[in-house]
Amino acid sequence: MLWTGGADFESRGLAVPELAEGDSLVRMTTATVCGSDRHTVSGRRPGACPSVLGHEGVGVVEATNADLPVGQRVVFAVTAVCGECGHCRRGLSAKCSTVAKVGHESARGGWPLSGTYASHIHLPKGVAVVAVPDAVPDAVASTAGCAVATVMAVLEAAGDLRGRRVFVNGVGMLGLIAVAAAKARGAAEVLAFDPTPARGQLALAAGADASLDQGDPPADIDVALELSGADAGVRSCLASLAIGGTAVLAGSVTPSPEVGIDPEWLVRGWRTVTGVHNYEPRHLRQAVDFLAANGSRLPWEQILSGPIKLADLAQEFAAPSDGLRTVVSISD
Ligand SMILES: [Zn+2]
Ligand SMILES: [Zn+2]
Repeated sequence: MLWTGGADFESRGLAVPELAEGDSLVRMTTATVCGSDRHTVSGRRPGACPSVLGHEGVGVVEATNADLPVGQRVVFAVTAVCGECGHCRRGLSAKCSTVAKVGHESARGGWPLSGTYASHIHLPKGVAVVAVPDAVPDAVASTAGCAVATVMAVLEAAGDLRGRRVFVNGVGMLGLIAVAAAKARGAAEVLAFDPTPARGQLALAAGADASLDQGDPPADIDVALELSGADAGVRSCLASLAIGGTAVLAGSVTPSPEVGIDPEWLVRGWRTVTGVHNYEPRHLRQAVDFLAANGSRLPWEQILSGPIKLADLAQEFAAPSDGLRTVVSISD
């Protein structure tokens, strides 16, 4: 389903590429619609066009020149990386100097079948692929590749959560996963804030100990996770930090107003502020493990809407379904 600009999608046949060494062709069964695709279609975020959008999905290996069994059910990373540049070698492959992205590449370029809103996706050698256990349903597994894996990277940056007070700002898909994963990792208390009351209720359903009415948590938070991208959220995460506290910012992916930091407060308080964007292959494996072990902590019946058919994608973007993720059923 080719995105041809604005709100337009066209069903189009694209050639299946010759698979190079390490490449795979995956037959898609399910995709989920990430909010960033909605931003691309609405013009709030630049995107290659025409292109096959969609970067969350699950499918079955149909042909491969990699060390993968044909027929294996898999999820895959959002980044295609070289493995050789300076960033890749130091373990920051998300920032690979030649990074290409699943669901973000022009259909007229060298990687036309890059997205999950299609019958098949071509996975070049540099895209991490992870097998999905049978116990994880397709629609749940589909969220691993963007939302869940990113949260795994965020939590790694946050450090040991056992016994900690955690604040999660912004309860979209990432925030909701963060709440459940923080509890699963032994956080003593998880407080969540989202300006939409229904999202606060979702946070409680995912295991949050409290949903705040205002974005002003008490100033004794050990770990603050900023997943909204709002500068007010960044401010409240910083203001909440206790002595020794860590704030991880992952929501700020578009230009936003500067936020000041008092260096003396940072220094005397042994506080840490760090940023995370995308993730490493190990985080995708952790995402699948989390969904297998703890996925049932999440209120999927409220998170997921659909399923819709691939042919109904344009309608879905024009009039979004309720829920945090719309499921696109591709196999039928
Ligand atoms: Zn995404
Ligand atoms: Zn690289």
